[in-house]
Amino acid sequence: MIERPRMHIKTFGCQMNRYDSDRMLEMMVARGYELSDDPNTADLVIVNTCSVREKPERKVQSFVSRIVSGSRHGEKGSRSKPVFVIAGCVAEQHGGEFLDMQPDVDLVIGPDHLHELPDLVERVKKGERISAVGEETVPSFLQARPSGPGVRVSEAVTIAKGCDNYCSYCIVPYVRGRERSRPAVQIVDEASGLVALGAREIVLIGQNVNSYSGEGGFPLLLERVSRIPGLSRLRFTTSHPKDFSRSLARQFKELDNLCEWLHMPFQSGSDRVLENMNRGYTRAQYLEKVAMYREYAPNGAIGADCIVGFPGETHKDFEDTMKLVEEVCFDQLFSFKYSPRPGTSALCLADDVPMDVKTGRLKELQELHTAMTRRKNLELVGTRQQVLVEGPSSRGDQMSGRTRSNKVVNFCGKESLVGSLVLVHIEEGLANSLRGRIEESAA
Ligand code: SF4
Repeated sequence: MIERPRMHIKTFGCQMNRYDSDRMLEMMVARGYELSDDPNTADLVIVNTCSVREKPERKVQSFVSRIVSGSRHGEKGSRSKPVFVIAGCVAEQHGGEFLDMQPDVDLVIGPDHLHELPDLVERVKKGERISAVGEETVPSFLQARPSGPGVRVSEAVTIAKGCDNYCSYCIVPYVRGRERSRPAVQIVDEASGLVALGAREIVLIGQNVNSYSGEGGFPLLLERVSRIPGLSRLRFTTSHPKDFSRSLARQFKELDNLCEWLHMPFQSGSDRVLENMNRGYTRAQYLEKVAMYREYAPNGAIGADCIVGFPGETHKDFEDTMKLVEEVCFDQLFSFKYSPRPGTSALCLADDVPMDVKTGRLKELQELHTAMTRRKNLELVGTRQQVLVEGPSSRGDQMSGRTRSNKVVNFCGKESLVGSLVLVHIEEGLANSLRGRIEESAA
């Protein structure tokens, strides 16, 4: 039997990077590669990087050094040196410099060039070292996606790339470029193709989906995708508060398969900090948008991102953040300590909140949020929830799926249920998930 070449992908960062990794995997599988968990025995190693925060960027550097040194010291036995690819934001930011810094890296590829990956890997195998970064006239996300087996129950579809908001702490507009929206017809075609191949849920993704500027805007795009025959559920992420409109909020009531789940980062509860972050809204305006969402989705879940220790953040500013978290009672909260990123405008502000204060604030915020999530999960005990079954649970002993509000539910059930909607009676509310018992098939 001919041995297929093996590839390993390590992904850092956000949903956009996970989506890009999936696309790279699809392209290379179409060229005969198979996925491997072990970077040390792979023929192709791709590190899809993130530079939004300092910590993931440091993790990327140390991962690359580890893998590269493993290869140098012959830990891969008799296999020849793998092709090393650096993709994503760090690749875009450093470009060819990466080839100088890491002599074992063969290819540096930016987000706009991902569709060229299979051909570039072939060129590397013939001895070239290549840097493919910078804006393309027809970027990767506008290229047709390869279709084939391996479609999951829940699939993401990119609707826009880049960002025009220039939040003062964020590097995305510099590495992902200005915002570009995909034509609606292409999005609907891609989503329809995925549903025809077995996807039951589509998640529309972009740095800021609700500023989608394709024909008819985002509310109309949601309507068009929601009408795809066979689509059980529709979600979207991420939303910017300043672009969250009433016509969008109304869709939560109008479209049956649009799940009541909104991810809308607030970043800080202090007007002073929000202004320095260049977020384009006030605390009161954020709360108005939350109220607007809840008017149309009264039991809807809400998630957010938040930064503590931004330059100049006082104790009072932090208290305002804590109060906002209590007031909104988020279902999901991703919180981080501020770290200065090269090339962003916040670099000219003194990073004056001491590290121990940042750490203490983050801990306090996360404790508050954990207690609130736990309480919310306990409130669901005794209710029946519609769950889309996605596959085995992370421990592998049960089946797992999500409620419409995006909560993970584990329960005993057969593998043949994957892809179906079931009603689950919730029996236990844990810190990060729910446990229950299947009552019946919901559809
Ligand atoms: S909205 Fe702000 S934080 Fe989000 S990607 Fe754009 S610049 Fe970055």
